[in-house]
Amino acid sequence: TPAKRAAHVVLLASPGAGHILPVAELARRIVAHGDGAEFTATLVTYTNFSSAEHHSTLASLPPSVSTAVFPEVPLDDLPANAHIETRIFTTVKRSLPRLRDLLRSLLESPSGVAAFVPDLLGPWTLQVAVELGVPGYLFCTTNLMAFSCMLHVPELDRTTTGEFRDLPEPVRLPGCVPLRGADLLDPLQDRSDPVYPLMIEFGKNHLLANGFIVNTFDAMEHKTLVAFKEISDKGVYPPAYAVGPFVRPCAGGESAEHGCLQWLDKQPDASVLYVCLGSGGTLSTEQTAELAAGLEASGQRFLWVVRFPSDKDCSASYFGTAANSDDPVSYLPEGFLERTKGVGICLPLWAPQVEILNHRAVGGFLSHCGWNSTLEATTAGVPKLAWPLYAEQRMNAVMLSERAGLALRPSEGSVRENGVVPQEEVAAVVRELIAGEKGAAARQKALELRDGAVKAWAPDGPSRRAFEAVVGKWKKVERAG
Ligand code: UDP
Repeated sequence: TPAKRAAHVVLLASPGAGHILPVAELARRIVAHGDGAEFTATLVTYTNFSSAEHHSTLASLPPSVSTAVFPEVPLDDLPANAHIETRIFTTVKRSLPRLRDLLRSLLESPSGVAAFVPDLLGPWTLQVAVELGVPGYLFCTTNLMAFSCMLHVPELDRTTTGEFRDLPEPVRLPGCVPLRGADLLDPLQDRSDPVYPLMIEFGKNHLLANGFIVNTFDAMEHKTLVAFKEISDKGVYPPAYAVGPFVRPCAGGESAEHGCLQWLDKQPDASVLYVCLGSGGTLSTEQTAELAAGLEASGQRFLWVVRFPSDKDCSASYFGTAANSDDPVSYLPEGFLERTKGVGICLPLWAPQVEILNHRAVGGFLSHCGWNSTLEATTAGVPKLAWPLYAEQRMNAVMLSERAGLALRPSEGSVRENGVVPQEEVAAVVRELIAGEKGAAARQKALELRDGAVKAWAPDGPSRRAFEAVVGKWKKVERAG
């Protein structure tokens, strides 16, 4: 019998840990598929906004995953206050010639290209896949509800006027929880901002995909998946494959030895609030002070990943803080560390999140509701205190609190006009999450969904079957060609 030739898949991860980590996990699962010799992969990343986590993730890939990096593209012509999405989309668009060169050279090589898989923020790259005749599958690193909203943007734009926050009625997408205009995607909130027309292009370009690989699962979004299938069966959208949850496994070695895990070892079960706002989430000076005072007043144990405050941009940390030699912990209110000694610990900048969430001592997660963080908490059975900041996070918070029952939220009436949650409310909602009845109910829901996540990838589970279906198509393409 002729030696079986592996099919080659090219994956492209947008800047940011929230993209690189799940795309790397997808690459790992593709090459591990079947007998482990059916696929090889190239994982491509961008130099712009790269970070230490970026490099350690790439270094941990198995040998059948090669890596490639697009060179830095200049962005200095963008205004200083350009949206994070504008910066990422511009990086993607300016790198298209590099992508064309890379795919062409792989197509001419013996490996060929069986499929091209960019993530959510790179739909423009599908134009190149179409041009070169390579099947393009978009990897959606957020939930299907938020993604449905993204696909719906061109129509929302055509059928409404004025700012979305002024819409009299909530937006009702099939199978999704109704969304108030103010909760829609952050980059839609100002029609005169240069990011707005980019969001319309963004929505349209996704339709160039042959299919969507979505990091979600049936137990999490059953109704949305059913409604989406009805629409895609009519040919309006490409099909969605719910293959999640993809969560990286707990690491041994260095992460496992992290001092914060040893501190957690000494705390009672489900007693600690873990506070972390993803890779980019940033609080204002005022909010940092109120959160600190509220944590202190709550009397609950906490583990807080502290970032430098910014009064201008709630996604400031996304762009890296490497150049800053200060310690962000020094920006906390005076005396806070001493007064909370023994009750809480603060870690600067970055923590081993998956290991923390899976520690038995963690009982709640104050989170910006980024989708990877949400899946990580769900597979660990940890309920949340939703603290959305930018991108699609407000929509996620609505879904997690109103539909999934996984999250508590600060009461709306308590929030100051500038959006700051005052310390009294922080203290009350933290106490409720860790020690109250509503927290216990959310914890119960989280444990139920954890079971759903386990079943999703059990032999014959729905996510595993969806994954086999999509990679199965790539094998066929390779054999036919
Ligand atoms: N993360 C981490 N340690 C940190 C902050 C973030 O390991 O201190 C990881 C987290 O586990 C998740 C990713 O970074 O996998 C963040 O992705 P998410 O979608 O939650 O948010 P984003 O950063 O994209 O807003």
